[in-house]
Amino acid sequence: MSFPKIKHVRAFVVTGGGADYHDQGDGHWIDDHIATPMARYPEYRQSRQSFGINVLGTLVVEVEADDGTIGFAVTTGGEPAAYIVEKHLARFLEGAQITEIEKLWDQMYFSTQYYGRKGLVINAISGVDLALWDLLGKLRGEPVHQLLGGAVRKQMEFYATGARPDLAQKLGFIGGKLPLHHGPAEGEEGLKQNIAELAEMRSRVGADFWLMFDCWMSLDLNYAIKLAQRAHEHGLKWIEEALSPDDYWGYAELKRQAPRGMLVTTGEHEATRWGFRMLLEMGCCDIIQPDVGWCGGLTELVKISALADARGTLVIPHGSSVYSYHFVITRHNSPFAEFLMMAPKADEVVPMFNPLLLDEPVPVNGRLDVGALDKPGFGVRLNPACTLRRPYTH
Ligand SMILES: [Mg+2]
Repeated sequence: MSFPKIKHVRAFVVTGGGADYHDQGDGHWIDDHIATPMARYPEYRQSRQSFGINVLGTLVVEVEADDGTIGFAVTTGGEPAAYIVEKHLARFLEGAQITEIEKLWDQMYFSTQYYGRKGLVINAISGVDLALWDLLGKLRGEPVHQLLGGAVRKQMEFYATGARPDLAQKLGFIGGKLPLHHGPAEGEEGLKQNIAELAEMRSRVGADFWLMFDCWMSLDLNYAIKLAQRAHEHGLKWIEEALSPDDYWGYAELKRQAPRGMLVTTGEHEATRWGFRMLLEMGCCDIIQPDVGWCGGLTELVKISALADARGTLVIPHGSSVYSYHFVITRHNSPFAEFLMMAPKADEVVPMFNPLLLDEPVPVNGRLDVGALDKPGFGVRLNPACTLRRPYTH
């Protein structure tokens, strides 16, 4: 059967929000003294931007078919990822069949393996992979979730990540995940403040609302165990990404020692089926949280999710807006989704990749009907008001 081939691949960068959601202005909750592994240096403790969290910016990948149809996707990676897409990955795509997504992923991964495997290179591959799925959906006139086998429920439920779970509760979300503010370098006093913040939030939301801590790789094992034990008294549902993503042994020990009923979660900075196989087989966590823009794209997330499903582990993807939603709605072991509160005070629902995408659906009363995803591809457009720059060509 004749089907358009891939004619051209282009990579752009854009700054100011978008997929690089840490790239925000002053006074945003997402950069307000959040615990990080860099907090051991007092000069980098107050702001993640101070150590360069927003240095990369957003990567936009466009894949054009020879009939002129364009698929696109956004992720984090900026100029170095744009270089990899234009100078290395594009050669495998141009002239290829759009339907050869498995082969193209394999070629992109194994051709870069000697310098890739995790991090930036996998972000770039993820961006290309998501753009291919968007293009395939547009050419077939179907939403991506339908290409994946179809929705298993009519509606998605969301928890909110941000500084104000009490407001998220009023907005209809099923839970709220707080950023942890103090790490081991701030000692017993910092630990007390963490627990006091949790206790204060618990008093505002009542006994049953989910509350979680996102620790952004900032803790050591001993601190994580102490935090989990004390937070258990205040009904903490899960402790997220407590340790370095490389410390599989630490996660396994944390899961063994966490209070009964508290979930250990991680994986937003893990990549590929092989990385997640380590987390799963070493018994590191109860929920894996792959980011579809960082773990290898949708093609890889399908494999990661199948590994987790066979073990009874939930897959709750990290952020990533429509790129996650089209997946979550198709899987029983992804029973709810994350929504990042990108309003500076976390007091209202705004699109997660604001201002880069148009038609980006957001939860209403903490929920999203499958009908909101019923457009070809991922169903979003680039906002022409955002200035894209193409740093490299090929
Ligand atoms: Mg997180």
